[in-house]
Amino acid sequence: MLAKPLTLKDALDRDAADPLASLRDLFELKPGTIFMDANSIGPMPKAVRQSASGLLDDWVALRRRGWSNRQWLDMPSKLGDALAPMLGAGPGEVVVCDSTTVNQFKAVSHCLAINASRGVILSQNGNFPTDVHVLQALVEASRGRLTLRFIDTEDEAVAAMDETVAVAALSHVDYRSGERWDMTRVTDAAHAKGILTVWDTSHSAGAVPVDLNGSQTDMAIGCGYKYLCTGPGGPAYMYARKEIADAVWPALAGWMGHADVFAFARDYAPHPGVKRFIAGTPAVAANELAAPLLDIWPRIEPSKLWARHKSLTDFLIALLEQECASLGVEVTSPRDHSRRGGNVSFRSPGAGSVVEALIDLGVVSSFRKPDAIRFGVSPLVISHQDIHEAVARLKRILAEETWKQPKYKKVSV
Ligand SMILES: *Cc1c(COP(=O)(O)O)cnc(C)c1O
Repeated sequence: MLAKPLTLKDALDRDAADPLASLRDLFELKPGTIFMDANSIGPMPKAVRQSASGLLDDWVALRRRGWSNRQWLDMPSKLGDALAPMLGAGPGEVVVCDSTTVNQFKAVSHCLAINASRGVILSQNGNFPTDVHVLQALVEASRGRLTLRFIDTEDEAVAAMDETVAVAALSHVDYRSGERWDMTRVTDAAHAKGILTVWDTSHSAGAVPVDLNGSQTDMAIGCGYKYLCTGPGGPAYMYARKEIADAVWPALAGWMGHADVFAFARDYAPHPGVKRFIAGTPAVAANELAAPLLDIWPRIEPSKLWARHKSLTDFLIALLEQECASLGVEVTSPRDHSRRGGNVSFRSPGAGSVVEALIDLGVVSSFRKPDAIRFGVSPLVISHQDIHEAVARLKRILAEETWKQPKYKKVSV
């Protein structure tokens, strides 16, 4: 029996039944634009304008005391606690600081120091370049002590776990294909061989289920400015199990990770737990742009947000196939939501030019060579109606071959 084709009414019905539909009212959105480059930057909370201008006023009026007004010292922990439920972590287990790149260095160095008798770092060929570059520089600095082992698939990762491996530094979701790995399965396999794990959850946190505590991973890091909305270039996060955090000093020690910051002691004494990984002064202005998240994330039940992401992306995949398959579109993201990250990827004729033409029609997405289009679905603001409209605009571009116009030849990545 053929399933009934999906229509605009199905989109509106799904939105009407959605318990989180009003979340989008918390964000400032550009009318007419459907922003689905969510893996590049999340939507802006309306409250950001007020908190940013308050910061500027305080800067002029109070100088240094303006900082004190802003709880600047506690923001890494406050923001970490606000994000923790989305990561499957508890209070005091996450700090928000620095960039993903810097936190990758801190996390992997930490695990290498704990597993100091072993010399292999395991990672993915398809891991995000900056994550790999950090590992390569650690190998370079080790003067022959460390080596890198690359694998492609989850099964290969499990098979590659042996007693030579010190740490597995892996991405939870492949940034290109959008495939999500089974964090618990891989972490279990690592632990069975005494290997520590560092997961990068940049493309899963805030969109799909992440369960750091449940998976028993040792550490995790990830990007704040994607689905989590910490703002342009906003701070990243870092998670560590307490025993792991406390096992050794951080490789990048600083006064903000001291057990008693304002003792101004000459000698370093690490703060217990994950706070020891806060190296220097928090990025006060960036944290201020992220401050509205303190009120937003804690009010969202993670399982409801993940269910909404499933509903939106299932709907998107079904519509892409229904409307655009005959025009050459082929969905490459896994069908099973438990294997998908935040975005849906598909192949399309003229992919790069199609993405440019979509921008002119108010749909912002992203292109990855050679022929992939990614629709990043932020479950905070995207509606089923948006999805329906975005696919309709895509179909128009493909059917009318608008993308072949010379002005869409120049493609940005
Ligand atoms: C976006 C992203 C990063 C970005 O790292 P920065 O330090 O912010 O440049 C790192 N890793 C992954 C997997 C990402 O998706």
